[in-house]
Amino acid sequence: MRRTSADYPSLQHQHQQLLQQLSGLQELRRGSLTEQFLMVKRKDGSRVKRGPYPLLTRKQGQKTISRRLTDPALLPLYRRQIQAMRQFEGVVEGLVRVGEQLSDLVVAEAVQKKTPGELEQAAEVRRLAVALAARQTPDFEAWESLLLQAARQGGAGVLTTLLRHWQQHAPREVILCPCGQRMRSRGRGGKRLLTTLGGVAFVRSFYQCRPCSRGRFPDDERLDIIQTTYSPGVRRLMARAGSQAQFEQAAEDLRCYAGLTVEAREVERVAEEVGHQVERWLAAEQQQLLQAAGTPARAVTFPAKFYISFDGTGVPVRKNELVGRRGKQADGSARTREAKLGCVFTQIGLDREGHPQRDPHSTTYVGAIESSTLFGWRLYAEALRRGLEQAQTVIVLTDGARYNHTIVQTHFPQAVHIVDLFHAYEHLTALAQIRWGQEAKAPKAWRRWLEAGDIDRLIRQAGQRLPAFTPSKRSMIKQLCYFENNAPQMRYAEYREKKFFVGSGVVEAGCRTVIGERLKQSGMHWSVRGANAILALRCCILSGRFQDFWASRTP
Ligand SMILES: [Zn+2]
Repeated sequence: MRRTSADYPSLQHQHQQLLQQLSGLQELRRGSLTEQFLMVKRKDGSRVKRGPYPLLTRKQGQKTISRRLTDPALLPLYRRQIQAMRQFEGVVEGLVRVGEQLSDLVVAEAVQKKTPGELEQAAEVRRLAVALAARQTPDFEAWESLLLQAARQGGAGVLTTLLRHWQQHAPREVILCPCGQRMRSRGRGGKRLLTTLGGVAFVRSFYQCRPCSRGRFPDDERLDIIQTTYSPGVRRLMARAGSQAQFEQAAEDLRCYAGLTVEAREVERVAEEVGHQVERWLAAEQQQLLQAAGTPARAVTFPAKFYISFDGTGVPVRKNELVGRRGKQADGSARTREAKLGCVFTQIGLDREGHPQRDPHSTTYVGAIESSTLFGWRLYAEALRRGLEQAQTVIVLTDGARYNHTIVQTHFPQAVHIVDLFHAYEHLTALAQIRWGQEAKAPKAWRRWLEAGDIDRLIRQAGQRLPAFTPSKRSMIKQLCYFENNAPQMRYAEYREKKFFVGSGVVEAGCRTVIGERLKQSGMHWSVRGANAILALRCCILSGRFQDFWASRTP
């Protein structure tokens, strides 16, 4: 039964009565009276029962101690004292019960009190409605915003009722402590929730474990609002907004689009928290995928060409994240940490000119600031999830950096590894510039050999043109090494023939949209932890998986 403030006087009266009863109880004795019979052995060997003898029994710590009362005349006195003790316990129990009910009333009143801001809002809606109704000329937008405000206020009221109804009718479960003990209710506590409909009052029971004193709010757990005053709907919006735009901008967007007033640093905190949850979700999924890999459960193959591509880009980070790292700054220091981004997509068809065409909406992303070893596993798991083991043709597109080869050899040994043609062009231009100066372009023949995949010939021919000047000679040899190291991944004529993509444009565009647009704006200095949380969120959203993640977290 839910009590209202009307119950207040009756509860106070009960309280007074109980206190009076308490003051009348003076002589108290713990324990109880029992009777003892003894079996006595007679001289002839037969046994006879003697008694009863009165016993006073009481617990002392873990032990039960009994004492025989030798004088039967004292028995009524003992009985009265013990009886008084029972009354005392009953009265105290009653006081606690009435006290809890009074506490509930006080809490409920405090929580249900509308904040001055909300009262103002309600008054504002009424004032505007009157003003708008009196106007001659219509103002469509004003009507819309007025009705939206009114609908939100009404909705918040319904939501409050729904929550209470649920609490009154939800089946009562035994609440267990992690230590295994049953937890007992310790009264109720209230908090204000911010929901997508506005502020809502919420009162729920607090449970505590007597032996270990741990506490829980079971209703908070069931409603997914543990240690937060933001409803799940609001947290989802905050996470999304914070992943899309800088936090100040995100807070402003939430105010404009959803009528939510939250501070920028709260958006940051909640978005990062949800990002970490996404990371944990992905890690668990990765575990499952890696364990299931290789089991011949799904024998179906699919005809699409299966592409895996990855690249890195620098994310500006705080100074303390760079200690001991070398970088590209003039003094050798670093300003950024490399975030690696991987993507998986498929291709079946060709466009009108006969060029390979990516399957629409087939691209998914994974990314993090992490070692290439960890990233390799992350990418491999994503490829497994997308159907790596069912794919007939697997192609890996990279820019030819050294760690690329390691990842391909470790995780995708069956794949055709292609080094991006456009990076190769750049290296070709670099060769020409070292040889003939800043304005130079690569000779047409070099380009032809490259496109034909005749890397041996390219290296032979260019190698004959090494300059005499030693530093230039050295950097030209370095460029030639790039071609030599990547020659097996540069059979471009063959790839064209098979209608493969030969450019890593998809992952490069991904680096800009997934990472650059959110994490590389001027003035940004990320913590690695924060950057990874936002990166996880963005990959999840841009891969079309945010809904899956969100659905997975409710029991
Ligand atoms: Zn416990």
